[in-house]
Amino acid sequence: MRFARQDAGRHDFIFAGGALFVALAVFAVDTFTGIEGAIAVLYAIALLLAAEAVNRLGLILLTALFMVFSLASFFFTHAPDPDFATFLRLCVALAALAVTTALLLRNERARSALLRTNAALRESEERYRSIFDRTRVALWERDYSKLLDYITGLKSAGVTDMKAYVQDHPHVLGECVSKIEVVDANEAAVELLGSFTADVHGGVMHRIIPTDSCTFASLLQAIMDGATYFEDNAEVFNEAGERRLVLLGISFPTDPSAFNRVVVSMVDVTQREEARMALAEAQAELSRASKAATVGALSASLAHELNQPLGAITVNSQTLVRWLERDPPDIDAAKRSAERILRDSNRASDIFKSTRSMMLSTPKESETIDLERLITDTLTLMDHDLQRDRTEVEIIHKTKIPRFKAVRLEMQQVLINLISNAAQSMSASQSQKRLVTISLDSPGEADHILIAVRDTGDGLGDDAQQNLFKPFFTTKDNGMGIGLSICRSTIEARGGTLDGNNHPDGGAIFEIKLPKETANA
Ligand code: ADP
Repeated sequence: MRFARQDAGRHDFIFAGGALFVALAVFAVDTFTGIEGAIAVLYAIALLLAAEAVNRLGLILLTALFMVFSLASFFFTHAPDPDFATFLRLCVALAALAVTTALLLRNERARSALLRTNAALRESEERYRSIFDRTRVALWERDYSKLLDYITGLKSAGVTDMKAYVQDHPHVLGECVSKIEVVDANEAAVELLGSFTADVHGGVMHRIIPTDSCTFASLLQAIMDGATYFEDNAEVFNEAGERRLVLLGISFPTDPSAFNRVVVSMVDVTQREEARMALAEAQAELSRASKAATVGALSASLAHELNQPLGAITVNSQTLVRWLERDPPDIDAAKRSAERILRDSNRASDIFKSTRSMMLSTPKESETIDLERLITDTLTLMDHDLQRDRTEVEIIHKTKIPRFKAVRLEMQQVLINLISNAAQSMSASQSQKRLVTISLDSPGEADHILIAVRDTGDGLGDDAQQNLFKPFFTTKDNGMGIGLSICRSTIEARGGTLDGNNHPDGGAIFEIKLPKETANA
C-alpha cells in the first residue's frame, strides 16, 4: 500500500517483490507438497508485505487473487472429494485473509489521516516560520516560563503591586531579567539588537534591558495580572551599547505551560522619537525665549512707567518723615504727603494693571475645545519630559465635560505649566510615587467646570503658599516665577479662577474653575 511517499521506487520494488515471492512460495507449497495445514493462511504475510507497496484498491485485488489461489490449490489437491477438516482449513485461511485485509485497510485510513494532519502542521509551521523570518518587524521567541513561576511565587507571597515591590527591592528587576531566555530571533531582531547566540541565563536580556526600566516593571505587573497582551514604549540597548527606542508588543498565552514560547515584537521608533524630542525641545526653547523676551519687555516697560510714581513716592515719603520730625510735628502737611504717596501708589498699581491687560489683550482666536483631547495632546507634547522625570499621569473623568470655547494654546500653556511644576516638585522630593492626577468635573448643578491637577510631591511651603501667584516668586534655582502668575491672569481673563493649595493627603493641588456659560459660549 502506498502511503503518500515520495521515494517509493526502491522501497515499493523490494516489498512488492517480497510479496510476490512469498505468494508464489505459499501457492507452490499449498498446491504441490500435500502438507496438511492451513498453509494458505501464510498469504497474509504476502499481504502485509504488499501493503507497503500498493494502494487500497491494489490490496483488495491482491486479497481476491490470494483467495483465488487458495481455492485453486484446494480444488487441485483435494477435489473431487474434500474432507471436512481440509474444508475448514480453507475457510480459516480465507477468513485470515479477509481479517488481515480489513485491519490493513483500517490501519491505512488512520495512517493517512495522521499523515494529512502532519502535513497540515508542517505547512502551518512553515508559514509561521516564513512570516517570523521575513517580516521587517523584529520578533523574538522567548522563554518566560521561569519568570512566570517566579512572579506566581511572589503573588502567592502576597505581592500585588510589582512596581512598588521592584522599587523597594531593586535587585528583583535583575533577577527577573535573568529568568528570561531567548529561544529564537528573526533577522530584523538581530539587526536591531544584535545576536543572541551567547544567551545563557538571560545574558542577552541583561544587555538589552536597562536595569532601571519602568517598562519592564510594568511588564512584570502585566504578567502578574494575567494580561494576554502588553504594549508600551520601551528603551533597549543594542549590541554596540546604543540606546534604541522601540514600540514593544508581547502576546502572552492563556495557557501557562505555553510561556516557554512567548512571541515578542519590537518596532524601532528611535528616529521618530528623536525627531519628536528635538521638536519638543525646540518648542520648549522657543517658549523659554519668548517668556524671557516677554519678561524683558515687561520689565523695561514697567521700569519706565513706574519710574515716575516711584520717584514721587520716595520724595513724598522723605517729606512725610521731615514733617513728622518737626517739633511739634506738622500733622496736616504729613497728611498731605501721605495722600500724595497713596495717589502715586494707586497710579503705580494702575500702570501695572494696564501693562498686564495690554499684554493679555492680543487678540487670540478661540475655538471649540474637546478638553479630554486637549489634555491627551498636551501630555503627548510633554511625553519626553514626563518619561525623563519618571512621572505617571492619571486622568480621572468624574463627569463628562461638555465641549467649550477657549483659546487652545492658552489652555495648553496653563496645563503645561501646572503639570511641569507638579513633575518638578515630585522629582525634587524623596517621594517614591510620582503621580500627577488630572481630574475633570462638570457637576450638573454647579456653574463651572473644574480641572484639578494634583501631585505627590512635598507640597507648597509656607512661603510658596503666600506668594504662589506673585510675579517673580520662585523657589527654584533656575525658575523665573512668572508661570503661575501668567496662568492665573489667563484663566481670569476668561472669567475663571486658578487656586493652589496643599492636598490633605499630601502634595499640591491646583484647581482651575471655568464658568460654564463662558465655557458653553
Ligand atoms: P517657576 O516654576 O519658574 O518657579 P511658577 O510661577 O510656575 O514659577 O511657580 C512658582 C513657585 O510655586 C515655584 O517656584 C514653587 O515654589 C511653587 N510651586 C508651583 N507649583 C508647585 C507644586 N506643584 N508643588 C510645589 N510647589 C509648587
